[in-house]
Amino acid sequence: MNRLPRHDHYIAGEWTAPAEGEWFASVNPATAEPWYEAANGTAADVERAVGAARAAFEDPRWRDLSQTRRGRLLRTLGDLIGEHAEELARTESLDNGKLLREMRAQLAGLPEYFYYYAGLADKIQGEVIPGASRELLNYTLREPVGVVGAITPWNSPLLLTATKLAPALAAGNTMVIKPSEHTSASLLALAPLFERAGFPPGVVNVVTGFGATAGGPLTEHRDVAKVSFTGSTGTGRRIARTCADRLIRCTLELGGKSPNIIFPDADLGSAAMGVIAGVFAAAGQTCVAGSRVLVHREVYDEILERVSARAATIAIGDPLDDATELGPLAIAEQLEKVESYVDLGRSEGGKVVCGGARPDTGLGGYFYSPTVFTGVDNTLRICQEEIFGPVATVMPFDSEEEALSIANNSAYGLAAGVWTRDVNRVHRMAARLEAGTVWANTYRSMSPMSPRAGFKNSGMGTEHGTEVVREYTRLKSVWINTSEEPAGDPFILRS
Ligand code: NAD
Repeated sequence: MNRLPRHDHYIAGEWTAPAEGEWFASVNPATAEPWYEAANGTAADVERAVGAARAAFEDPRWRDLSQTRRGRLLRTLGDLIGEHAEELARTESLDNGKLLREMRAQLAGLPEYFYYYAGLADKIQGEVIPGASRELLNYTLREPVGVVGAITPWNSPLLLTATKLAPALAAGNTMVIKPSEHTSASLLALAPLFERAGFPPGVVNVVTGFGATAGGPLTEHRDVAKVSFTGSTGTGRRIARTCADRLIRCTLELGGKSPNIIFPDADLGSAAMGVIAGVFAAAGQTCVAGSRVLVHREVYDEILERVSARAATIAIGDPLDDATELGPLAIAEQLEKVESYVDLGRSEGGKVVCGGARPDTGLGGYFYSPTVFTGVDNTLRICQEEIFGPVATVMPFDSEEEALSIANNSAYGLAAGVWTRDVNRVHRMAARLEAGTVWANTYRSMSPMSPRAGFKNSGMGTEHGTEVVREYTRLKSVWINTSEEPAGDPFILRS
Protein backbone atom coordinates (compact mmCIF):
# COMPACT_ATOMS: atom_id res chain seq x y z
CA MET A 1 0.00 0.00 0.00
CA ASN A 2 1.28 3.49 -0.85
CA ARG A 3 2.14 5.58 2.16
CA LEU A 4 0.27 8.88 2.45
CA PRO A 5 2.27 12.10 2.05
CA ARG A 6 3.65 12.98 5.46
CA HIS A 7 4.15 16.49 6.87
CA ASP A 8 6.36 17.54 9.78
CA HIS A 9 6.13 20.63 11.97
CA TYR A 10 7.58 23.87 10.63
CA ILE A 11 9.97 25.14 13.33
CA ALA A 12 12.74 27.73 12.97
CA GLY A 13 12.37 27.63 9.20
CA GLU A 14 12.85 23.88 8.98
CA TRP A 15 10.63 20.86 8.62
CA THR A 16 10.99 19.15 11.97
CA ALA A 17 9.86 15.59 12.74
CA PRO A 18 7.59 15.23 15.80
CA ALA A 19 9.46 14.54 19.04
CA GLU A 20 7.36 11.43 19.75
CA GLY A 21 7.75 10.20 16.17
CA GLU A 22 4.01 10.02 15.52
CA TRP A 23 1.82 11.31 12.70
CA PHE A 24 -1.94 11.17 12.23
CA ALA A 25 -4.07 10.86 9.10
CA SER A 26 -6.24 13.69 7.84
CA VAL A 27 -9.35 12.94 5.83
CA ASN A 28 -10.74 14.50 2.65
CA PRO A 29 -14.37 15.13 3.73
CA ALA A 30 -15.76 14.84 0.19
CA THR A 31 -14.62 11.21 -0.04
CA ALA A 32 -14.04 10.28 3.64
CA GLU A 33 -10.59 9.00 2.52
CA PRO A 34 -7.36 9.88 4.35
CA TRP A 35 -5.09 11.91 2.06
CA TYR A 36 -2.03 12.97 4.12
CA GLU A 37 -0.50 12.63 7.55
CA ALA A 38 0.40 15.50 9.85
CA ALA A 39 2.85 15.47 12.74
CA ASN A 40 1.21 14.67 16.05
CA GLY A 41 2.56 17.52 18.16
CA THR A 42 3.17 17.23 21.89
CA ALA A 43 4.57 19.44 24.64
CA ALA A 44 8.13 18.68 23.45
CA ASP A 45 7.35 20.06 19.97
CA VAL A 46 5.67 23.10 21.48
CA GLU A 47 8.78 23.62 23.62
CA ARG A 48 10.97 23.65 20.50
CA ALA A 49 8.64 25.91 18.56
CA VAL A 50 8.20 28.44 21.37
CA GLY A 51 11.98 28.33 21.94
CA ALA A 52 12.50 29.17 18.26
CA ALA A 53 9.93 31.96 18.42
CA ARG A 54 11.50 33.37 21.61
CA ALA A 55 14.98 33.29 20.03
CA ALA A 56 13.63 34.96 16.88
CA PHE A 57 11.97 37.66 19.00
CA GLU A 58 15.39 38.58 20.40
CA ASP A 59 17.25 38.06 17.12
CA PRO A 60 18.51 41.47 15.89
CA ARG A 61 17.47 40.48 12.35
CA TRP A 62 13.86 40.74 13.56
CA ARG A 63 14.05 42.87 16.73
CA ASP A 64 16.01 45.67 15.07
CA LEU A 65 14.29 45.57 11.72
CA SER A 66 12.72 48.95 10.98
CA GLN A 67 8.94 48.96 11.05
CA THR A 68 8.84 49.97 7.39
CA ARG A 69 10.93 46.93 6.48
CA ARG A 70 8.66 44.73 8.57
CA GLY A 71 5.82 46.07 6.46
CA ARG A 72 7.79 45.26 3.32
CA LEU A 73 8.10 41.60 4.40
CA LEU A 74 4.36 41.42 4.93
CA ARG A 75 3.80 42.90 1.50
CA THR A 76 6.11 40.30 -0.06
CA LEU A 77 4.26 37.55 1.81
CA GLY A 78 0.98 38.89 0.41
CA ASP A 79 2.48 38.81 -3.12
CA LEU A 80 3.68 35.22 -2.63
CA ILE A 81 0.24 34.15 -1.41
CA GLY A 82 -1.19 35.70 -4.56
CA GLU A 83 1.28 33.73 -6.69
CA HIS A 84 0.39 30.46 -4.92
CA ALA A 85 -3.33 31.17 -4.69
CA GLU A 86 -4.49 28.25 -6.83
CA GLU A 87 -2.40 25.68 -4.93
CA LEU A 88 -3.49 27.05 -1.55
CA ALA A 89 -7.16 27.20 -2.58
CA ARG A 90 -7.13 23.63 -3.87
CA THR A 91 -5.33 22.32 -0.78
CA GLU A 92 -7.84 23.87 1.60
CA SER A 93 -10.76 22.71 -0.51
CA LEU A 94 -9.48 19.12 -0.37
CA ASP A 95 -8.87 19.42 3.36
CA ASN A 96 -12.11 20.94 4.64
CA GLY A 97 -14.53 20.55 1.73
CA LYS A 98 -15.07 24.26 1.05
CA LEU A 99 -16.01 24.94 -2.57
CA LEU A 100 -12.95 25.47 -4.73
CA ARG A 101 -14.58 28.51 -6.32
CA GLU A 102 -15.24 29.98 -2.87
CA MET A 103 -11.62 29.30 -1.91
CA ARG A 104 -10.41 30.94 -5.13
CA ALA A 105 -12.42 34.05 -4.27
CA GLN A 106 -11.08 33.96 -0.69
CA LEU A 107 -7.48 33.60 -1.90
CA ALA A 108 -7.95 36.50 -4.32
CA GLY A 109 -8.66 38.66 -1.26
CA LEU A 110 -6.23 37.12 1.20
CA PRO A 111 -3.15 39.14 0.15
CA GLU A 112 -5.13 42.26 1.12
CA TYR A 113 -4.84 41.28 4.79
CA PHE A 114 -1.07 41.37 4.49
CA TYR A 115 -1.05 44.60 2.43
CA TYR A 116 -3.35 46.32 4.92
CA TYR A 117 -1.15 45.47 7.92
CA ALA A 118 2.01 46.12 5.86
CA GLY A 119 0.76 49.68 5.54
CA LEU A 120 0.01 49.84 9.25
CA ALA A 121 3.36 48.42 10.41
CA ASP A 122 5.18 51.78 10.49
CA LYS A 123 2.23 53.69 11.91
CA ILE A 124 2.32 51.78 15.18
CA GLN A 125 3.74 54.30 17.59
CA GLY A 126 3.67 55.75 21.07
CA GLU A 127 3.10 59.40 21.83
CA VAL A 128 4.51 62.26 23.84
CA ILE A 129 2.41 62.94 26.93
CA PRO A 130 2.08 66.57 27.96
CA GLY A 131 3.73 66.97 31.37
CA ALA A 132 2.86 69.38 34.14
CA SER A 133 6.49 70.39 34.28
CA ARG A 134 8.68 71.43 31.34
CA GLU A 135 11.62 69.49 32.80
CA LEU A 136 9.93 66.10 32.65
CA LEU A 137 9.64 64.49 29.26
CA ASN A 138 7.11 61.66 29.24
CA TYR A 139 6.44 59.48 26.23
CA THR A 140 5.02 56.04 25.50
CA LEU A 141 6.48 53.15 23.54
CA ARG A 142 4.09 50.71 21.91
CA GLU A 143 6.03 47.45 22.03
CA PRO A 144 5.32 43.95 20.70
CA VAL A 145 4.19 41.57 23.45
CA GLY A 146 6.57 38.73 22.48
CA VAL A 147 5.63 35.22 21.41
CA VAL A 148 2.00 34.89 20.32
CA GLY A 149 0.31 31.48 20.34
CA ALA A 150 -2.38 31.25 17.66
CA ILE A 151 -4.93 28.43 17.68
CA THR A 152 -7.39 28.09 14.79
CA PRO A 153 -10.45 25.99 13.82
CA TRP A 154 -11.14 23.90 10.73
CA ASN A 155 -13.74 25.96 8.95
CA SER A 156 -11.52 28.63 7.35
CA PRO A 157 -7.91 27.83 8.24
CA LEU A 158 -6.02 30.27 5.99
CA LEU A 159 -8.31 33.26 6.43
CA LEU A 160 -8.54 32.89 10.19
CA THR A 161 -4.77 32.46 10.45
CA ALA A 162 -4.17 35.56 8.29
CA THR A 163 -6.32 37.68 10.62
CA LYS A 164 -3.91 36.83 13.45
CA LEU A 165 -0.65 36.55 11.56
CA ALA A 166 -0.70 39.85 9.69
CA PRO A 167 -1.32 42.20 12.67
CA ALA A 168 0.85 40.18 15.06
CA LEU A 169 3.84 40.38 12.70
CA ALA A 170 3.17 44.02 11.81
CA ALA A 171 3.48 44.77 15.53
CA GLY A 172 6.84 42.93 15.74
CA ASN A 173 5.80 39.75 17.55
CA THR A 174 6.81 36.19 16.70
CA MET A 175 4.36 33.31 16.50
CA VAL A 176 3.62 29.68 17.02
CA ILE A 177 0.47 28.58 15.17
CA LYS A 178 -1.46 25.42 16.01
CA PRO A 179 -4.02 24.73 13.26
CA SER A 180 -7.00 22.42 13.75
CA GLU A 181 -6.09 18.73 13.75
CA HIS A 182 -8.69 18.34 10.98
CA THR A 183 -7.22 20.88 8.58
CA SER A 184 -3.46 21.39 8.78
CA ALA A 185 -2.70 21.16 5.05
CA SER A 186 -3.22 24.70 3.79
CA LEU A 187 -1.16 26.28 6.58
CA LEU A 188 1.62 23.74 5.96
CA ALA A 189 1.50 24.73 2.28
CA LEU A 190 1.79 28.37 3.32
CA ALA A 191 4.67 27.82 5.77
CA PRO A 192 7.60 27.81 3.28
CA LEU A 193 6.46 31.21 2.02
CA PHE A 194 7.41 32.85 5.35
CA GLU A 195 11.09 32.31 4.73
CA ARG A 196 10.78 33.06 1.03
CA ALA A 197 9.21 36.39 1.96
CA GLY A 198 12.32 37.14 4.04
CA PHE A 199 11.08 36.56 7.59
CA PRO A 200 14.01 35.32 9.71
CA PRO A 201 13.69 31.66 10.79
CA GLY A 202 11.60 31.22 13.93
CA VAL A 203 9.46 34.33 13.41
CA VAL A 204 6.56 32.07 12.36
CA ASN A 205 6.37 28.41 13.44
CA VAL A 206 3.69 25.80 12.88
CA VAL A 207 3.03 22.90 15.24
CA THR A 208 0.29 20.51 14.13
CA GLY A 209 -1.66 18.21 16.41
CA PHE A 210 -4.63 17.89 18.70
CA GLY A 211 -6.19 20.38 21.10
CA ALA A 212 -5.35 18.75 24.40
CA THR A 213 -1.84 17.56 23.50
CA ALA A 214 -0.53 20.41 21.30
CA GLY A 215 -2.94 23.34 21.86
CA GLY A 216 -2.98 22.95 25.65
CA PRO A 217 0.83 23.05 26.08
CA LEU A 218 0.97 26.11 23.82
CA THR A 219 -1.45 28.09 26.00
CA GLU A 220 0.39 26.94 29.13
CA HIS A 221 3.92 27.67 27.93
CA ARG A 222 5.75 30.17 30.16
CA ASP A 223 7.16 32.08 27.17
CA VAL A 224 3.87 32.59 25.35
CA ALA A 225 2.82 36.16 26.09
CA LYS A 226 -0.54 36.14 24.38
CA VAL A 227 -2.98 33.63 22.95
CA SER A 228 -5.16 34.42 19.97
CA PHE A 229 -7.86 31.79 19.60
CA THR A 230 -10.68 31.16 17.13
CA GLY A 231 -12.94 28.21 17.77
CA SER A 232 -15.83 27.01 19.87
CA THR A 233 -17.08 28.79 22.96
CA GLY A 234 -16.34 25.78 25.18
CA THR A 235 -12.68 25.62 24.16
CA GLY A 236 -12.42 29.41 24.32
CA ARG A 237 -13.62 29.39 27.90
CA ARG A 238 -11.01 26.76 28.83
CA ILE A 239 -8.25 28.76 27.16
CA ALA A 240 -9.40 31.97 28.85
CA ARG A 241 -9.08 30.22 32.23
CA THR A 242 -5.53 29.12 31.47
CA CYS A 243 -4.63 32.64 30.33
CA ALA A 244 -6.23 34.13 33.43
CA ASP A 245 -4.16 31.84 35.65
CA ARG A 246 -1.03 32.88 33.80
CA LEU A 247 -2.12 36.54 33.70
CA ILE A 248 -1.50 36.74 29.98
CA ARG A 249 -3.72 38.26 27.36
CA CYS A 250 -6.06 36.37 25.13
CA THR A 251 -8.28 37.23 22.21
CA LEU A 252 -11.22 34.91 21.63
CA GLU A 253 -13.31 34.66 18.45
CA LEU A 254 -16.02 32.12 19.26
CA GLY A 255 -19.31 30.67 18.16
CA GLY A 256 -22.59 32.28 17.15
CA LYS A 257 -26.31 31.83 16.59
CA SER A 258 -26.96 34.87 14.49
CA PRO A 259 -30.37 36.30 13.60
CA ASN A 260 -31.17 37.31 10.01
CA ILE A 261 -34.23 39.58 10.20
CA ILE A 262 -36.56 40.34 7.29
CA PHE A 263 -39.06 43.20 7.33
CA PRO A 264 -41.99 43.42 4.87
CA ASP A 265 -40.57 46.46 3.07
CA ALA A 266 -37.38 44.60 2.09
CA ASP A 267 -36.52 43.54 -1.44
CA LEU A 268 -37.80 40.04 -0.79
CA GLY A 269 -35.80 38.37 -3.57
CA SER A 270 -32.53 39.75 -2.21
CA ALA A 271 -33.55 38.97 1.36
CA ALA A 272 -34.28 35.34 0.49
CA MET A 273 -30.89 35.06 -1.22
CA GLY A 274 -29.34 36.71 1.86
CA VAL A 275 -30.85 33.95 3.98
CA ILE A 276 -29.41 31.30 1.65
CA ALA A 277 -25.98 32.97 1.67
CA GLY A 278 -26.13 33.42 5.43
CA VAL A 279 -26.84 29.86 6.43
CA PHE A 280 -26.05 27.55 3.51
CA ALA A 281 -22.79 29.01 2.19
CA ALA A 282 -19.87 26.82 3.30
CA ALA A 283 -22.53 24.29 4.36
CA GLY A 284 -23.38 26.52 7.30
CA GLN A 285 -19.93 26.08 8.81
CA THR A 286 -19.32 29.75 9.37
CA CYS A 287 -19.24 31.37 12.78
CA VAL A 288 -21.52 34.13 11.49
CA ALA A 289 -24.11 31.73 10.01
CA GLY A 290 -27.50 33.44 10.00
CA SER A 291 -29.18 30.35 11.39
CA ARG A 292 -32.10 32.09 13.11
CA VAL A 293 -34.22 33.55 10.32
CA LEU A 294 -36.79 35.99 11.70
CA VAL A 295 -39.46 37.02 9.22
CA HIS A 296 -42.28 39.55 9.63
CA ARG A 297 -45.58 37.69 9.58
CA GLU A 298 -46.82 39.68 6.53
CA VAL A 299 -44.11 38.18 4.31
CA TYR A 300 -43.44 34.97 6.24
CA ASP A 301 -45.07 32.60 3.73
CA GLU A 302 -43.45 34.24 0.75
CA ILE A 303 -39.94 34.19 2.25
CA LEU A 304 -40.35 30.62 3.45
CA GLU A 305 -41.44 29.58 -0.04
CA ARG A 306 -38.54 31.36 -1.74
CA VAL A 307 -35.92 30.07 0.73
CA SER A 308 -37.09 26.48 0.77
CA ALA A 309 -37.54 26.38 -3.04
CA ARG A 310 -33.96 27.58 -3.54
CA ALA A 311 -32.59 25.37 -0.75
CA ALA A 312 -34.17 22.31 -2.36
CA THR A 313 -32.34 22.98 -5.65
CA ILE A 314 -28.90 23.71 -4.19
CA ALA A 315 -26.38 21.60 -6.11
CA ILE A 316 -24.65 19.30 -3.63
CA GLY A 317 -21.47 17.52 -4.64
CA ASP A 318 -17.74 17.58 -5.26
CA PRO A 319 -16.33 20.87 -3.93
CA LEU A 320 -13.78 20.94 -6.75
CA ASP A 321 -16.57 21.05 -9.35
CA ASP A 322 -17.50 24.60 -10.38
CA ALA A 323 -21.19 23.68 -10.60
CA THR A 324 -21.36 22.60 -6.95
CA GLU A 325 -23.05 24.97 -4.51
CA LEU A 326 -22.80 22.95 -1.30
CA GLY A 327 -19.89 20.72 -0.36
CA PRO A 328 -19.56 18.30 2.53
CA LEU A 329 -19.29 19.06 6.22
CA ALA A 330 -15.62 19.17 7.12
CA ILE A 331 -15.49 16.24 9.54
CA ALA A 332 -17.45 13.10 10.37
CA GLU A 333 -18.22 14.32 13.92
CA GLN A 334 -19.81 17.45 12.46
CA LEU A 335 -22.11 15.38 10.27
CA GLU A 336 -23.19 13.39 13.33
CA LYS A 337 -23.72 16.60 15.27
CA VAL A 338 -25.92 18.08 12.53
CA GLU A 339 -27.95 14.87 12.29
CA SER A 340 -28.49 14.78 16.02
CA TYR A 341 -29.62 18.45 16.07
CA VAL A 342 -32.11 17.77 13.27
CA ASP A 343 -33.46 14.80 15.27
CA LEU A 344 -33.64 17.03 18.32
CA GLY A 345 -35.48 19.75 16.35
CA ARG A 346 -38.04 17.20 15.19
CA SER A 347 -38.49 15.87 18.71
CA GLU A 348 -38.90 19.43 19.99
CA GLY A 349 -41.88 19.78 17.63
CA GLY A 350 -40.18 21.48 14.68
CA LYS A 351 -41.30 20.75 11.14
CA VAL A 352 -38.70 20.11 8.43
CA VAL A 353 -39.92 21.80 5.25
CA CYS A 354 -36.89 20.83 3.19
CA GLY A 355 -33.75 18.73 3.65
CA GLY A 356 -33.42 16.91 6.94
CA ALA A 357 -31.41 13.99 5.54
CA ARG A 358 -28.12 12.95 3.97
CA PRO A 359 -28.26 13.34 0.18
CA ASP A 360 -27.11 10.59 -2.11
CA THR A 361 -24.06 12.06 -3.85
CA GLY A 362 -22.32 8.78 -4.54
CA LEU A 363 -19.10 10.36 -3.25
CA GLY A 364 -18.95 8.76 0.18
CA GLY A 365 -18.26 12.01 2.04
CA TYR A 366 -19.92 13.89 4.89
CA PHE A 367 -22.77 15.56 2.99
CA TYR A 368 -25.97 16.91 4.50
CA SER A 369 -28.88 18.52 2.65
CA PRO A 370 -29.80 22.17 3.30
CA THR A 371 -32.48 21.98 5.95
CA VAL A 372 -35.23 24.44 6.85
CA PHE A 373 -37.23 24.18 10.08
CA THR A 374 -40.51 25.92 10.85
CA GLY A 375 -42.85 25.61 13.82
CA VAL A 376 -40.03 26.36 16.24
CA ASP A 377 -39.77 28.77 19.10
CA ASN A 378 -36.62 30.76 19.86
CA THR A 379 -36.32 29.14 23.29
CA LEU A 380 -35.83 25.63 21.84
CA ARG A 381 -32.34 24.14 21.84
CA ILE A 382 -32.06 24.14 18.03
CA CYS A 383 -32.62 27.91 18.16
CA GLN A 384 -30.25 28.53 21.06
CA GLU A 385 -27.29 26.22 20.38
CA GLU A 386 -24.78 26.55 17.56
CA ILE A 387 -25.27 23.72 15.04
CA PHE A 388 -22.54 24.83 12.62
CA GLY A 389 -24.19 23.15 9.67
CA PRO A 390 -26.77 23.83 6.90
CA VAL A 391 -29.77 24.15 9.20
CA ALA A 392 -32.04 27.22 9.29
CA THR A 393 -34.86 27.83 11.74
CA VAL A 394 -37.48 30.24 10.39
CA MET A 395 -39.61 32.12 12.92
CA PRO A 396 -42.30 34.81 12.51
CA PHE A 397 -42.51 38.15 14.33
CA ASP A 398 -45.08 40.96 14.37
CA SER A 399 -43.17 44.10 15.32
CA GLU A 400 -39.70 45.63 15.34
CA GLU A 401 -39.68 45.38 19.11
CA GLU A 402 -40.51 41.69 19.00
CA ALA A 403 -37.84 41.04 16.35
CA LEU A 404 -35.26 42.73 18.59
CA SER A 405 -36.37 40.79 21.61
CA ILE A 406 -36.10 37.43 19.80
CA ALA A 407 -32.81 38.39 18.15
CA ASN A 408 -31.20 39.45 21.43
CA ASN A 409 -32.52 36.45 23.33
CA SER A 410 -29.37 34.43 22.75
CA ALA A 411 -26.24 33.60 24.69
CA TYR A 412 -24.28 34.59 21.58
CA GLY A 413 -23.71 37.98 19.99
CA LEU A 414 -21.54 37.57 16.92
CA ALA A 415 -23.51 38.97 13.98
CA ALA A 416 -26.96 39.96 12.78
CA GLY A 417 -28.61 40.76 9.45
CA VAL A 418 -31.45 43.21 8.78
CA TRP A 419 -33.40 43.42 5.53
CA THR A 420 -35.46 46.58 5.04
CA ARG A 421 -35.63 49.63 2.78
CA ASP A 422 -36.28 51.91 5.76
CA VAL A 423 -32.99 53.62 6.56
CA ASN A 424 -34.18 54.85 9.94
CA ARG A 425 -35.10 51.33 10.91
CA VAL A 426 -31.61 50.16 9.88
CA HIS A 427 -30.05 52.63 12.31
CA ARG A 428 -32.49 51.79 15.11
CA MET A 429 -31.84 48.07 14.71
CA ALA A 430 -28.05 48.52 14.40
CA ALA A 431 -28.02 50.45 17.66
CA ARG A 432 -30.02 47.88 19.61
CA LEU A 433 -28.90 44.52 18.24
CA GLU A 434 -26.50 42.81 20.62
CA ALA A 435 -24.00 41.69 18.01
CA GLY A 436 -20.43 42.62 17.11
CA THR A 437 -21.34 42.93 13.41
CA VAL A 438 -24.62 44.14 11.93
CA TRP A 439 -25.29 43.85 8.20
CA ALA A 440 -28.18 45.59 6.48
CA ASN A 441 -29.32 44.32 3.06
CA THR A 442 -26.19 42.20 2.83
CA TYR A 443 -24.77 39.25 4.77
CA ARG A 444 -21.24 37.89 5.39
CA SER A 445 -19.45 40.97 3.98
CA MET A 446 -16.02 41.35 5.55
CA SER A 447 -12.77 43.23 5.10
CA PRO A 448 -9.45 43.42 6.92
CA MET A 449 -10.25 47.08 7.55
CA SER A 450 -13.44 46.45 9.49
CA PRO A 451 -13.22 45.47 13.18
CA ARG A 452 -14.71 42.12 14.06
CA ALA A 453 -15.69 41.33 17.61
CA GLY A 454 -17.97 38.88 19.33
CA PHE A 455 -20.30 40.12 22.05
CA LYS A 456 -21.52 37.94 24.94
CA ASN A 457 -20.47 34.28 24.50
CA SER A 458 -19.13 34.99 21.02
CA GLY A 459 -15.79 36.32 22.11
CA MET A 460 -13.47 38.76 23.75
CA GLY A 461 -11.28 41.33 22.02
CA THR A 462 -11.22 42.50 18.43
CA GLU A 463 -9.75 41.28 15.17
CA HIS A 464 -9.24 43.18 11.89
CA GLY A 465 -8.95 46.96 11.57
CA THR A 466 -6.48 49.21 13.32
CA GLU A 467 -7.84 48.49 16.84
CA VAL A 468 -6.29 45.02 16.75
CA VAL A 469 -2.84 46.54 17.10
CA ARG A 470 -3.63 47.22 20.75
CA GLU A 471 -4.19 43.50 21.22
CA TYR A 472 -0.72 42.69 19.93
CA THR A 473 1.24 45.46 21.67
CA ARG A 474 1.91 46.67 25.18
CA LEU A 475 2.30 50.26 26.24
CA LYS A 476 5.33 51.45 28.17
CA SER A 477 5.55 54.88 29.76
CA VAL A 478 9.03 56.49 29.80
CA TRP A 479 9.86 59.51 32.01
CA ILE A 480 13.04 61.57 31.53
CA ASN A 481 14.16 64.40 33.72
CA THR A 482 15.70 66.95 31.36
CA SER A 483 16.55 69.46 34.09
CA GLU A 484 20.17 70.37 34.88
CA GLU A 485 19.07 71.62 38.33
CA PRO A 486 20.10 69.61 41.42
CA ALA A 487 17.46 67.13 42.60
CA GLY A 488 14.82 68.72 44.82
CA ASP A 489 12.97 67.48 47.89
CA PRO A 490 13.08 63.62 47.68
CA PHE A 491 9.80 63.35 49.59
CA ILE A 492 7.72 65.23 47.03
CA LEU A 493 6.43 63.51 43.86
CA ARG A 494 7.50 65.17 40.58
CA SER A 495 4.87 65.51 37.91
P1 NAD B 1 -12.70 23.82 18.60
O1 NAD B 1 -12.87 24.75 19.74
O2 NAD B 1 -13.07 22.41 18.76
O3 NAD B 1 -11.18 23.80 18.12
C1 NAD B 1 -10.50 24.98 17.73
C2 NAD B 1 -9.02 24.81 17.94
O4 NAD B 1 -8.76 24.68 19.34
C3 NAD B 1 -8.43 23.55 17.29
O5 NAD B 1 -7.16 23.88 16.74
C4 NAD B 1 -8.30 22.60 18.47
O6 NAD B 1 -7.29 21.64 18.28
C5 NAD B 1 -7.93 23.56 19.58
N1 NAD B 1 -8.20 23.07 20.93
C6 NAD B 1 -9.16 22.22 21.34
N2 NAD B 1 -9.06 22.01 22.69
C7 NAD B 1 -8.02 22.75 23.12
C8 NAD B 1 -7.42 22.98 24.39
N3 NAD B 1 -7.86 22.39 25.50
N4 NAD B 1 -6.38 23.84 24.47
C9 NAD B 1 -5.93 24.46 23.38
N5 NAD B 1 -6.43 24.28 22.14
C10 NAD B 1 -7.47 23.44 22.01
O7 NAD B 1 -13.48 24.50 17.38
P2 NAD B 1 -13.73 23.90 15.93
O8 NAD B 1 -14.78 22.85 16.05
O9 NAD B 1 -12.42 23.57 15.29
O10 NAD B 1 -14.30 25.18 15.15
C11 NAD B 1 -15.63 25.50 15.07
C12 NAD B 1 -15.95 26.63 16.04
O11 NAD B 1 -15.18 27.79 15.72
C13 NAD B 1 -17.39 27.07 15.95
O12 NAD B 1 -17.91 27.24 17.24
C14 NAD B 1 -17.30 28.41 15.23
O13 NAD B 1 -18.37 29.28 15.49
C15 NAD B 1 -16.02 28.94 15.73
N6 NAD B 1 -15.50 29.98 14.84
C16 NAD B 1 -15.52 31.29 15.26
C17 NAD B 1 -15.09 32.32 14.41
C18 NAD B 1 -15.14 33.77 14.83
O14 NAD B 1 -14.48 34.58 14.20
N7 NAD B 1 -15.88 34.13 15.85
C19 NAD B 1 -14.62 31.98 13.14
C20 NAD B 1 -14.61 30.65 12.76
C21 NAD B 1 -15.05 29.65 13.63
